[in-house]
Amino acid sequence: MDNLNQSYFLSLQAYDSELDQLRAFAEAHQVPIVDQLSLDMIKQIIRIHQPTEILELGTAIGYSSMHFASVSPDINVTTIERNEEMIAYAKKHFEQFRFTDQIRLIEADAAQAFSKVNDRTYDMIFIDAAKAQSKKFFELYSPLLKDGGVIITDNVLYHGFVANIDIVRSRNVKQMVKKVQKFNQWLSEQSDFKTNFINMDDGLAISIKEHKND
Ligand code: SAH
Ligand code: MG
Repeated sequence: MDNLNQSYFLSLQAYDSELDQLRAFAEAHQVPIVDQLSLDMIKQIIRIHQPTEILELGTAIGYSSMHFASVSPDINVTTIERNEEMIAYAKKHFEQFRFTDQIRLIEADAAQAFSKVNDRTYDMIFIDAAKAQSKKFFELYSPLLKDGGVIITDNVLYHGFVANIDIVRSRNVKQMVKKVQKFNQWLSEQSDFKTNFINMDDGLAISIKEHKND
């Protein structure tokens, strides 16, 4: 999206580590990885919240999970991906960047992977898979989140269509956008979570699970 302030912030840093360079690879392969400033924000939340167990839905090429794991060697990431081509890229990258000890890849559809990841609870969950299913994934996996834990959902503005559905022509896209709208409304009404919607990049929702006894 054209935005002078955004370009200005992006110009402050080089973003040229070997891991950062995977962004160009993703763009060349048209893989929709998390936007740069959103990633910076999520990594900052990781530094503040200090999660040790992170669950991610939607691995793609492994870019975001490796960035999360890079914040601290104490972090374990469990990440779920169903697309075989992406799984192959992710595996290769986890080896190449030496994250196989910190990142566990679950090769499955996130709608059916609960029993493969419920061996532990999580301090943070990143929802970044099929956008029409964010609500389903939130409902399915939030029981595995510790009290006080954080769920971050990416793409809650979906290319700006969520706030401006009238410009959408395609029926399929419209249906998807409506699902994202419903999810955002539903999320804002969840009394056991406090959600903060961020107007940055493609939109982030940051939801914090209440502590049970306060
Ligand atoms: N988190 C990544 C980008 C993920 S792109 C990053 O920022 O680097 C979304 C990914 O979710 C795609 O690779 C897609 O194959 C995967 N995906 C979509 N629906 C899924 C599902 N139901 N189960 C598992 N993976 C899914
Ligand atoms: Mg995303």
